[in-house]
Amino acid sequence: GKYVADHKLRILDPSKLKVTKTQNPKSLPEDMKFVWGATFTDHMLICQHDPEIGWLDPEIRPYGPLQLDPASTCLHYAPALFEGMKAYRTSQPGSKPLLFRPDMNMARMRRSADRVQLPDFDAEAMIELIRQLVKLDEHLIPPPPNALYIRPTMIGTRPTLGVAPSTHAMIYVILSPVGPFFPTKNTAGPPLPIPSVENVAFSNGSSSEPTDSANHLNGTNSTIEWQANFDTISLLATTSAIRAWPGGVGEYKLAGNYAPCFKPQKAALAKGYQQNLWCLEDKEGVMKVTECGQMNFMVVLEKKREGNVVEVELATPNLDGTILPGVTRDSILTLFRAHADAKTDSDRLPHLSSDFRLTVSERPISLEELVQASQEGKILEAFGTGTAAVLCPVKRIGLEDGRPDMEIPTYSGGLGPLARAVFERVSEIQEGKVPGHQWIVEI
Ligand code: PMP
Repeated sequence: GKYVADHKLRILDPSKLKVTKTQNPKSLPEDMKFVWGATFTDHMLICQHDPEIGWLDPEIRPYGPLQLDPASTCLHYAPALFEGMKAYRTSQPGSKPLLFRPDMNMARMRRSADRVQLPDFDAEAMIELIRQLVKLDEHLIPPPPNALYIRPTMIGTRPTLGVAPSTHAMIYVILSPVGPFFPTKNTAGPPLPIPSVENVAFSNGSSSEPTDSANHLNGTNSTIEWQANFDTISLLATTSAIRAWPGGVGEYKLAGNYAPCFKPQKAALAKGYQQNLWCLEDKEGVMKVTECGQMNFMVVLEKKREGNVVEVELATPNLDGTILPGVTRDSILTLFRAHADAKTDSDRLPHLSSDFRLTVSERPISLEELVQASQEGKILEAFGTGTAAVLCPVKRIGLEDGRPDMEIPTYSGGLGPLARAVFERVSEIQEGKVPGHQWIVEI
């Protein structure tokens, strides 16, 4: 038999990779239009773990159906988890495609695996295998602003119905060319103006002037080209359903966290909102906001105003175990903090006036704080952050208790000044325009 009593389990070994290439390679559509996550590349990576052998030799083979025993644990008790990351083609001809912070995704994937007691794996080895897969399908990475979405998935495959951990497991990685979450326009046309407040509707006739405050942040440089046109979304602050709770598994990217959100999401859609703003009541009975849809939530609040100087706070819920620690969240917080404590010009984000002072906080944010800030005209921006869109601006937040919606200022081009500044910096890094950046891994 294959079992040897004192045999050490084999580790995941990229040098043992077996590659079977497809006979029918695909090409990208000429119009570069993609339905998100609906088309896949030529190949997939499969790594299998056997309880007695450890990790078998990894395999790349043509994309196609998996064969699973119907008793496989993942199909019954959901030891299943996934990751979402992207490979970017750079705009410079001849340069290599890039991965953005794959170490963060692999670290999160190992934490998720541990939480549902699937076997551990070497993160470096997994990144190397993903590089090999992406390299093989490099011709299917669409140019910016499109990218190649990478979906590493891990499932328990023990073919027995016992309710217990599975050390039979499979990691597979599939790739999907995707467009941006926003349509671009004017790529060849004249520069668009700096975003400014287009319409601001507040639920009371507050004395402060949100239009001024938001415009104030725009800075004075109006020569840059603004090509992105972001769609704004509406959120329903959802208190009647809970995505994650203390002691639960919200901070892990488990498959089981997602299906239970479908019904409340459908309910929000039926009421005219695109996503849920997931809320959670704390021990003191205070309703807190956590995340929105499949994104982390950030809000920009006006704190103080003296002459031309405006103090603003970029706030996002702290990682208390109910929040998925997003890679985009971490990246954006890092870049905002670098701006806030800027020692050099290169730390400063583009197009932001030096007349406003930024503080960055990870802290509990209550729903009532948002309602109040909205009534006082102190919410300058709100947005979700995630791999798919980087940033998704919020224009409206509905309440389930019948009070009027909070209207968030909207800006031409879709993003407010802070969102836009950080979006530009993140995109520069992801598209390889900041050579040697520590977040970039060449393929
Ligand atoms: N929250 C949830 C619930 C998510 O599914 C995602 C997407 N992974 C995020 C936040 C954003 O995480 P990231 O920036 O790593 O994509």
